[in-house]
Amino acid sequence: MICEQVTAPHQTRRGALSALVCGCLGLAGCAANPATGKSGLLGLSSIDDDVRIGATQFPELVKAFGGTYNQDRLQNYITKIGQRVVAKSELPDLPYEFAILNSPIINAFAFPGGKIAISRGLLALASSEAEVASVLAHEAGHVNARHGAQGQNRQVLANIGLAILGIATGSNELMQLGQTVTQGFLQSYSRDQELEADTLGVRYMAHAGYDPAASPSFLASMREQSQLDASMRGLPPGDVDQYNIMASHPRTIERVQQAQEAGRGLVVQNPTVGRAEYLDSINGLMFADDPAQGLVRGRKFIHPGLRIAFDAPEGFLLRNSPENVSGQSRNGATLVFDRAPIQRARSLAEYLQYEWAANTRLLALENITVNGIAAATGATRINGNNGPMDVRLVAYGVERGQAYRMLFITPARLSQSLSADLRATTYSFRRIDDAEVASVKPLRIVITPTRAGDTVASLARSLPYGRFNEDWFRVLNDLQPGQEFKVGDTVKIVVG
Ligand SMILES: [Zn+2]
Repeated sequence: MICEQVTAPHQTRRGALSALVCGCLGLAGCAANPATGKSGLLGLSSIDDDVRIGATQFPELVKAFGGTYNQDRLQNYITKIGQRVVAKSELPDLPYEFAILNSPIINAFAFPGGKIAISRGLLALASSEAEVASVLAHEAGHVNARHGAQGQNRQVLANIGLAILGIATGSNELMQLGQTVTQGFLQSYSRDQELEADTLGVRYMAHAGYDPAASPSFLASMREQSQLDASMRGLPPGDVDQYNIMASHPRTIERVQQAQEAGRGLVVQNPTVGRAEYLDSINGLMFADDPAQGLVRGRKFIHPGLRIAFDAPEGFLLRNSPENVSGQSRNGATLVFDRAPIQRARSLAEYLQYEWAANTRLLALENITVNGIAAATGATRINGNNGPMDVRLVAYGVERGQAYRMLFITPARLSQSLSADLRATTYSFRRIDDAEVASVKPLRIVITPTRAGDTVASLARSLPYGRFNEDWFRVLNDLQPGQEFKVGDTVKIVVG
């Protein structure tokens, strides 16, 4: 267990809740929600149910997003901020936990019963203790208002893997189902719930002595990052990455400001901002992908632990997740790469036909050799929503009992024009040598004062985003387009 837990005696929680049982004309099991004051048929044991459900689902979420980021000093600091905020909530005695996800995505999650997770990607973007407090307070708002206690999160977690399973079995229906439910997760809070979480969050922040203005200002940073991410993927601004915080928490700056306005009566004397202390605590924080989970560098995917690499076709933006590496092109082609155990098959061709694509008849099944590695490939056609799709499966036999798998799904009308690119990717799969393994190091945030001669361009050079480096540097350092820093200003840089 990485995070501190403050476990309240059972009686305390139940006592707090029964004190709030509303005027429901004596209906059995009718309790007021302590944070919102709304009544509902929750049942007196429902908070305990929240805790139990959260405790079961939370490890699944942590696993799906890369496990926890283990750095005691930073973890203790985040826990301290979280505890300071939830102490001012309606349910201060829940067994709160504030985990840091080892993931470069920018998001935060709350589970019923007090389990809260915040990604290291989000921590890299934040620039003060008050900004992190604003995120934790907002999540605590969801917990206290008991949003998502209907098990949405659980359903989604089961389905993060479902889309992949659907692809793997060639079942279009399964695939569609997986996508639908994943989208459901990302819109799992309604705008009303968001406003409620903001209203509560602003109150908790103010009572805990943090500047509530950090809430709209950090939301603005997260929105800028989201827009930058969209333009990096060649999408229009506002097209939100399905894994980021703008998707799962559909908030607008205007409504956060509304929540803040509503809390105007909450005067905070000498509010905590905590910029220097916060920046000190994230000095050395891992940035972008963790090499232990494989790295995307441009079009290349490289996994030093597994000692393999491949190159995606031009125009594909690769995304690395704990389950797989996936990439999309702008014209609707998809690539999914993963690894799976071989059960009984005695050859890769047998594996393709009888295990991976057991429910589909593969055409043009053949054995191939790729950079000295035995492989097999086959193809089929499925019907997608937007017409027929060609599916090509490739399995590589690097280790006994395991198949590395590459799957291409292309709209049938594009198959001809993409075939050379997909073939090049198929044949780019390779083992990597010691020198290439040694060359892969994680990137880290370093906090440093700027010196005479430094410019945005020069300090942004070591970021991994090519022509988007300067934009990224500005987002990380709250610099507007065209704005320069002063000599001696403290900035975040990224070093390899
Ligand atoms: Zn939210």
